[in-house]
Amino acid sequence: MRLGIYGAAEEVTGSLYLLEHDGRRILIDCGIFQGQDEDKKNSEPFPFDASTIDAALLTHAHLDHSGRIPLLVKRGFRGKIYATTPTLELCEILWRDSARLMQEEAEWKTRKNKRKGLPPVSPLFTEEEVDKALEFFAPLSYDDIFEIVPEIKVRFRDAGHILGSSIIEVWIGKESVKLVFSGDLGQQITVLDRSPAVINDADYVIIESTYGDRNHKSLDDTRNEFASIIEESLRDRSKILIPTFVVDRVQRLLYELTLLQEKGILSGDIPIYFDSPMGVKTTRVYRKYSSLLSSEVQDRILRNLDPFSPRGLKEVITPQESKKINDVSFAIVLAGSGMANGGRIVHHLKHNLWNPRSHLIFVGYQAEGTLGRRIIDGARFVKVAGEEVAVKCKAHTIGGFSAHGGQDDLLAWASNFKTNPVFLVTHGERKASNFLARELKKIGFEALVPQRGYEVLLAHGRPTVERKIEALAERPFKDLQGIVKDMDILLASLSDVLEGVEVAEDMEALLLSAKVLLEVANQRVATKMEVAQSETKDNYPSSTF
Ligand SMILES: [Zn+2]
Ligand SMILES: [Zn+2]
Repeated sequence: MRLGIYGAAEEVTGSLYLLEHDGRRILIDCGIFQGQDEDKKNSEPFPFDASTIDAALLTHAHLDHSGRIPLLVKRGFRGKIYATTPTLELCEILWRDSARLMQEEAEWKTRKNKRKGLPPVSPLFTEEEVDKALEFFAPLSYDDIFEIVPEIKVRFRDAGHILGSSIIEVWIGKESVKLVFSGDLGQQITVLDRSPAVINDADYVIIESTYGDRNHKSLDDTRNEFASIIEESLRDRSKILIPTFVVDRVQRLLYELTLLQEKGILSGDIPIYFDSPMGVKTTRVYRKYSSLLSSEVQDRILRNLDPFSPRGLKEVITPQESKKINDVSFAIVLAGSGMANGGRIVHHLKHNLWNPRSHLIFVGYQAEGTLGRRIIDGARFVKVAGEEVAVKCKAHTIGGFSAHGGQDDLLAWASNFKTNPVFLVTHGERKASNFLARELKKIGFEALVPQRGYEVLLAHGRPTVERKIEALAERPFKDLQGIVKDMDILLASLSDVLEGVEVAEDMEALLLSAKVLLEVANQRVATKMEVAQSETKDNYPSSTF
């Protein structure tokens, strides 16, 4: 009985767990990696043979949890894909969009390669693999227990993160060792979604830690902040652009704009362009399964008030309609992508960034390397769709609309456990995961932060963690890398222990030399990796998720 952790360990994306018992193999999530080295990490072989997997369980539809399922199918997986019905419907929308974007990118790269006499590029997966994956969909209801293979039972509980999102309880073997996968957890006080389900017992809890080291603003503060940004923007009577993610965030925005209209802050005469065909589709799924949303939302629906249709809302489907928005001078525009690194928001930015009367409101995290991040960081000029554009509009950022719980929310959820489980802290940057693990220890729990490739032998009580980094496919210079990583961890723990302690001078010098040595080793690994990468041809396109 063992659990392998092959993604979202000391990082946020790429969730992937393998549960093995008595010859049965179950995956929990199979998501894409986003950010540094994403192409390489997404295309490398799985650390198991896909055709030997009996079933996959998905906590929710976000691509960092579900996005590599079509690839799994491409590589021979033929088991059932268990998730809630809305999760599966959202997955289909997101996967088709991914496949289409990857296909376009592969074609573009192939044309470029052809001119250089290089081989064609193929996408990670195509719509055909998406179609094939749909054949394996097996929807499950919330709160019922199902035996998915002999001696492995599961129950999906609401995680309060996005529509259909789940915490998954798993019971294994005759002795019923119990694991709880938190998936992504919502805040304790939710708006659209229901609050995360309370669970009291487990042997192991695999908990996310995206915001393990910080808290969000309160709901009231967030709403006041949004209201004052909208009020300020309206005074300039120009374009108000809101780049947005299309699952949950855009529905939340439509709802918040509705509330601002009811409060008289936003007039119903100002057009709101919903310029995202994918967002329109996901909103349909939200309406269809509104019975799974919060009582606040359901109350409105009972009174025949659509929470996602503020007055003046115009759904924009075709590219021609989207371009026509350029002719309108005063309007709110909601468009993907959320980090402005693709999608229709790009052409709106090109036409408005230069205008000092326009406003740009970021409502989510902007990752390093994205256009959104460059604007937030204060770039005076940015390249948009191949053109240099001056940034003169006013940019605002609002953080509190997050669908993730903050540190206090995570701890409140964790403190419901009464059976002293061991917490495996994942799905967070190393700093956030370590911080949450420390806080969990403070309230009396056992907690550890596993690395990618770790395997845990499961039993009632304390786990045995085995290091299996080598099991990951063909890691170049793995020895050197392993040593550097070990040293890094050792130094971090040492610094932790020594925090606030007076240390003798010679010891401090020793620590310093160790850090310098580590830096040198790190550089050496980086150079070697670069050389190796330039020697091996990368056959996969850069991702546009
Ligand atoms: Zn998520
Ligand atoms: Zn996630």
